[in-house]
Amino acid sequence: MSTLFADIALPVPLDQTFTYLVPPDLHAAAKPGCRVLVPFGRTSLTGVIVSLSDRSTVPGIKPIRDVLDRKPTFSAEMLSLTHWIAEYYLAPWGEVLKTAVPQGMASESKRIVRLSVPDTESILSNLKPTAKKQRAVINLLAERKSLTISQLQRSTNTKSIYSLLHELSERGWIAIEDERPSQPRTKTEKIIIVKDEGRKALEHGKETNLTEKQEKILREALSESQLSAVLKKAQASLSIAETLRKKGLIEISAREVIRTFAFDNLEAPPTITLNAYQKKALDEISAVVEKGQYRTFLLHGITGSGKTQVYIEVIRKILPAGKTAIVLVPEISLTPQIVRRFKSHFGDDVAVFHSQMSAGERYDTWRLARDGKIRIVIGPRSAVFAPLPSLGLIVVDEEHEASYKQFDATPRYHARDVAIKRANDIGAVVILGSATPSAESYANVQTGKYTLLELPERVDGAQLPRIEVVDMTKERVRRYEETKKAVQEKGISFPKRLPTSSISKLLQDHIAERLEKKEGVILLQNRRGFSHVMECFDCGHVEKCDRCDVTLTFHAVKKHLRCHYCGFVKKPPTVCPNCQSVELRLYAFGTQQVEEELSQLFPKATIVRMDLDTTGRKGSHDRMLQQFARGEADILLGTQMVAKGLDFPRVTLVGVISADTQMLLPDFRASERTFQLLTQVAGRAGRSTLSGEVIIQTLQPDHYSLKHVVSHDFPGFYKEELEYRKELDYPPFSRLVLVEFKGQHEEEIHHHAKKFASFLLDDKYKEHLIVLGPADAAIPRIRGQFRKHVVIKGLKKTDPGGARLRSALTSAKQWYARSALGKNRAVQMAIDVDPVGMM
Ligand code: ADP
Ligand code: ZN
Ligand code: ZN
Repeated sequence: MSTLFADIALPVPLDQTFTYLVPPDLHAAAKPGCRVLVPFGRTSLTGVIVSLSDRSTVPGIKPIRDVLDRKPTFSAEMLSLTHWIAEYYLAPWGEVLKTAVPQGMASESKRIVRLSVPDTESILSNLKPTAKKQRAVINLLAERKSLTISQLQRSTNTKSIYSLLHELSERGWIAIEDERPSQPRTKTEKIIIVKDEGRKALEHGKETNLTEKQEKILREALSESQLSAVLKKAQASLSIAETLRKKGLIEISAREVIRTFAFDNLEAPPTITLNAYQKKALDEISAVVEKGQYRTFLLHGITGSGKTQVYIEVIRKILPAGKTAIVLVPEISLTPQIVRRFKSHFGDDVAVFHSQMSAGERYDTWRLARDGKIRIVIGPRSAVFAPLPSLGLIVVDEEHEASYKQFDATPRYHARDVAIKRANDIGAVVILGSATPSAESYANVQTGKYTLLELPERVDGAQLPRIEVVDMTKERVRRYEETKKAVQEKGISFPKRLPTSSISKLLQDHIAERLEKKEGVILLQNRRGFSHVMECFDCGHVEKCDRCDVTLTFHAVKKHLRCHYCGFVKKPPTVCPNCQSVELRLYAFGTQQVEEELSQLFPKATIVRMDLDTTGRKGSHDRMLQQFARGEADILLGTQMVAKGLDFPRVTLVGVISADTQMLLPDFRASERTFQLLTQVAGRAGRSTLSGEVIIQTLQPDHYSLKHVVSHDFPGFYKEELEYRKELDYPPFSRLVLVEFKGQHEEEIHHHAKKFASFLLDDKYKEHLIVLGPADAAIPRIRGQFRKHVVIKGLKKTDPGGARLRSALTSAKQWYARSALGKNRAVQMAIDVDPVGMM
């Protein structure tokens, strides 16, 4: 027999694959894409076979212990996609592969094995007397009914237990069931089937002496198979059904319930005739999908212009041709409405990947997708790896959203860009949908890489809302004058402190008007908590976190100051640590404080506050939105969550408490983010019958992102934004890579960062790279760890494909890992290619 070697990717932080020997008894089972168990150092690891060969030059090769999959987990397509991700984002291939499958697959060894044939004797007689291990397994199962894989492995002392079990299961003798410790065994429900005898009994009516309840059960069971539902409808108990079963009129059995995310109260979708713009988009996109070609479309349409409807219609058109689709949404818990809509159109063809799903639910969904049992997958960024066969379309809704980038763990991939790569590989179409496309995507339209489709009008014919800007500096002056006048008129003494307020007179008046008319109000305040800063009224001192250098947030419930980066908590001081003044006040406004102010101003109004603090529980976000949609709440107040995925016809006023929270962040995308957020939230106001209005409060009324929001001028904003990016060599005019060094000792990490930077400063890279730093990160310390950044700009002028940038970084990374620096565990280094945040 020939020798066989396997190249295996392992989830270890090393940029290489590992060669193992495939022992003869595993030759048949070892296929590329299968997960395997291999010895690694003193432990064993689960890896993935990425290729096989009949020769190897590596000495001292160890054998694979076992093959875990019967069907390969990764198709050839997914192997190649994950390999690209590994190279592009400088991440170990094994780690990418691990990211691309659901977590639930990790606990394999806890899967349960049972006999599927009761007759043990016949199995044993079919097994060769020499198949000792197999016989042992069957005997054990006959005796113990069910065992986990690892129990079987231990009891029979078999190294490659998986391959052995797969063989037995292929012959139909045993069943391997997916079970995780905290999960019920693959969930089942009882179903009822009416037998022919039962049907006859019903036909003959009275002659068959059925009781009334028995007859009811039989009738209901003709149209419904779920036993519990039948019993409920017939208002009968289980014992009556049992009697019917004993009479041989029905059968009761169990079937597996697939644990996918359930939505109730789905309404049938309305019949919709697309408008001319939507029709054009649909025709252009579906023509390309049908040809099986790659293309990326940028679907730019203002909020309510019918983008989602276009996705739905394209999918409806391509399903009959056997194509499948992935719909990526920024953060699924923030977009329950879009999921509902897809469910109402496509029912069980749709599966949702959800961050709040259990591992079991996720694993089931993954399997269904792989086996072609569902055809549409909706989910956040990791859904881009959904193993759908015949993939024809990937939709990236709100493509500009930062949450598509994984920034806090390896691989630091961008789901939008992975989607485009995947589509390109297999001849599929990508739709990037947005009301406010990213500067990068917009630039790709201008160079002809993407095809632009526009939906310039709202489907309901609604006009764009009127936007007014309130200068909060002037507002403060106005309040001062007002107080002075009151003092003079009423003869009271002047208060030492002006009543601070986050709500201007104009906004207050307009809210009052809406409450009167019973119209909805949405208020955005992109800060959670009660208030962010504790400021000294006399000297301006601000309370900050000792460890992170960020301002502390006051939490009203717990009455303490808290750091949102590290969780540090302290009691608010009563005197200023700087000047000993007692005039400390809370300054600036989080959602909680705004809520409090609102309930003072409008005691009769019902306010729903939506932020990370109030939406923690499963389903609470959806519930709040439903409540507001039904008109049970007057004001929806929240962080950026309220700007997204909502569609409420009754909203006629949108207020932005402070546009400044985002504008001042030290990030080159701060203006773009502000423009996007304000445009998105403004889009929530008004429909055809009710005209909308937006009020934006700010301390910087002349900022250019604000100017273009007010005039609804998207191209105008991007012209100005791209000019600024070009001047400073920011993306899309360059490729950015952020290298972060983190550690306890500032000197040490600075030294590491400096060495890394100087490696890249070599003359041979000069033409293609600009190396900046090391510099302190915008938040120089988090949880007591110092952070230094080295920023690398790859110039597109001299290195358009980025190949030179990648090779330089790969060299730097390898050099670093092998040097003494890389061996120092006290310093962590992370490379982020195409970062979305620079903080
Ligand atoms: P977007 O995704 O651009 O915000 P949607 O597709 O959600 O827009 O459309 C907004 C609303 O208008 C939805 O309630 C949708 O059902 C409805 N709608 C979409 N297209 C049409 C159309 N052609 N005619 C009537 N209603 C439509
Ligand atoms: Zn002070
Ligand atoms: Zn802190």
